[in-house]
Amino acid sequence: MKVRLLIRYGELSTKGRNKKAFTQRLARNIKRCLVDYPHIKVHPEYDFMYVDLNGADVWQVIDLLKPVFGIQSFSPVYIVEKDMELVKETVINLLSTLNPNEKTFKIATKRTDHEFAYNTNDSNIFLGDAVLEAFPGIRVQVKKPDITVRVDIRREHIMVSTQTIQGAGGLPVGTSGRVSLMLSGGIDSPVAAYLALKRGMEVQLVHFASPPYTSPQALEKTKKLAAKLAIYGGSMQFFTVPFTEIQEEIKKAVPENYIMTIMRRLMLRITDRIREEQGGLAILNGESVGQVASQTLESMIAINDVTKTPIIRPVATMDKLDIIAIAQEIDTFDLSIQPFEDCCTVFAPPSPKTRPKLEKAREYEARLDIEALMERCLAGVEVEEIKANSFTSQNDIDDLF
Ligand code: ATP
Ligand code: MG
Repeated sequence: MKVRLLIRYGELSTKGRNKKAFTQRLARNIKRCLVDYPHIKVHPEYDFMYVDLNGADVWQVIDLLKPVFGIQSFSPVYIVEKDMELVKETVINLLSTLNPNEKTFKIATKRTDHEFAYNTNDSNIFLGDAVLEAFPGIRVQVKKPDITVRVDIRREHIMVSTQTIQGAGGLPVGTSGRVSLMLSGGIDSPVAAYLALKRGMEVQLVHFASPPYTSPQALEKTKKLAAKLAIYGGSMQFFTVPFTEIQEEIKKAVPENYIMTIMRRLMLRITDRIREEQGGLAILNGESVGQVASQTLESMIAINDVTKTPIIRPVATMDKLDIIAIAQEIDTFDLSIQPFEDCCTVFAPPSPKTRPKLEKAREYEARLDIEALMERCLAGVEVEEIKANSFTSQNDIDDLF
């Protein structure tokens, strides 16, 4: 029996005129996930998408597509010849894998072939009776049954499905434009990246490293976080910014309690340059209001001053515990809590100003030759494409045995 995968779009279906672009992007993202299955064919239609599996295992394919944003739900759909005895057999086979004796069910038949011998009512009764006979413990329930058996009588064949599996929701990655996200090795910014991907943004990652104050392991850890995010984003561009010289200059020229503020201003300036060069539309970070000294609203005013580019802070109003719950769900938490130093913490003064003044920040920053420092820094930026699971270290491999 042939099986196809039906994909429902969810929020996408409200996108009106842009819908075609959205469904095509989704189809592309789906195909990218299925590169190892060249025989699979994806057919985007107006309200749903069909995947012709051509022999691939439907559950394996669903597992691969679970992280794809823009998919509301999946249903394996079995294609049966136009013979109600065969349909009956299929329905009973499918139900027998679902613990039917403790469940309630209904048959929901739809018919586009009006010449077929069974109308929707006939089909519901015929198949319903067969199910009741086959599974003595099952009961019919019309409102909110445990199992809905969908039967679709079409001109060319009959389609049967019994299960709906939740997809990742959200919007297809790439449909909301490109952004630059400041990725540290911490808990918050990977969660911010995940939330941005979920709203359809194509996320480029910008990471500041200050060797030798920060270690190669700290950088590798951040790349491993990027690889986790690439499960949702496809491959991701990862920019490593050499930040050592700027941090040393700031430390020399700026009063200790303003080091953090000036450092953040420079990070934002540099990220903004990278964004501009890459055609990005916004900057994102993992700031959360009130979490630490540099994340007060006063601080944001003193730092945000360097650009007019929209800055989106996906976790700004979330509680730490809620952020951690997402980090665990997307499997970044264990990596994030590995104790490697971040460039911000290495140079962090013992008591950063929690309410820095904008005028003072501007004054202290002006002590630096900003343009020359930024030029040298930008000249040293390295870019790498990170794919899902491309950062499997020896340790992870050892864990497999
Ligand atoms: P996170 O958990 O994301 O590290 P945090 O709570 O540690 O956040 P901060 O260290 O103050 O907070 O950083 C705030 C935000 O600044 C981060 O979420 C991230 O977006 C950005 N950031 C901090 N350090 C770096 C870095 N080394 N490279 C890139 N971005 C950074
Ligand atoms: Mg941090």
